[in-house]
Amino acid sequence: EKLLEIRDLHAGVEGKEILKGLNLLVNKGEVHVILGPNGSGKSTLMNVIMGHPKYTVTSEEMQFAGEDMKELKTFERARRGLFLSFQTPEEIPGITVENMIRTARQTITGQKVKILPFRKELKATMQELKMKPEYAQRYMNVGFSGGEKKRNEILQLLMLQPKLALLDETDSGLDVDAVQIVSEGVARFHNEENSCLIITHNTRILEKLKVDRVHVLMDGRIVEEGGAELIDEINRRGFTHILDAQNAAK
Ligand code: ADP
Ligand code: MG
Ligand code: MG
Repeated sequence: EKLLEIRDLHAGVEGKEILKGLNLLVNKGEVHVILGPNGSGKSTLMNVIMGHPKYTVTSEEMQFAGEDMKELKTFERARRGLFLSFQTPEEIPGITVENMIRTARQTITGQKVKILPFRKELKATMQELKMKPEYAQRYMNVGFSGGEKKRNEILQLLMLQPKLALLDETDSGLDVDAVQIVSEGVARFHNEENSCLIITHNTRILEKLKVDRVHVLMDGRIVEEGGAELIDEINRRGFTHILDAQNAAK
């Protein structure tokens, strides 16, 4: 069952083309990984899927759960079950973690979320992630360490239960223990009813997940695809080896 289907995506920012004809299909229940060197367009892809207004999309066919996404704003995409965890989570002074997540849930479900049951659920989920309960009343990411911010991203993921989780280097800059928690959190989130699209340079986050498909993004195009074995191959031989192999075959 198709969940996200992208065909011939061209997109850029400030007059510069970054994505140069990209195709991607993620089915329900699958875990996909995107690998690629810095600057290849990975974060751009995630932002474009979310409908970030900063990016100019010049050609796009994007279907999500059978619906054309082209005209939809970011919050409308969130409502339909898309969630993006940013590479660098934002600090939002004045809004507590609890209020932020509760408001997001209200926006997504279109229904009022009662405070007491929500608070109880939040507390239990924070406990699973080994977050101190008092963080619920702190301002979003303000004064959080790198690891705490990333844990906070996983907390949102578990509380909002999207259909497709887009994780942009959620594990970068974390120590071993924090990577373990993020990895367990993603594994706890994932089931056959939802899908994950993960950008990572750190294969440890994938240890608890069964990866269905790996895509290698270079210079705005997917240059190679395969199964989980591609991750080890790239870790051993690097990205340029893929291009060398393709050039040799030409
Ligand atoms: P990745 O996530 O793979 O490291 P990005 O999607 O962040 O790559 O960036 C892809 C390319 O687009 C890079 O060359 C980057 O410099 C450029 N880019 C990203 N954002 C902007 C921007 N706001 N203005 C100009 N260029 C940008
Ligand atoms: Mg980068
Ligand atoms: Mg990036």
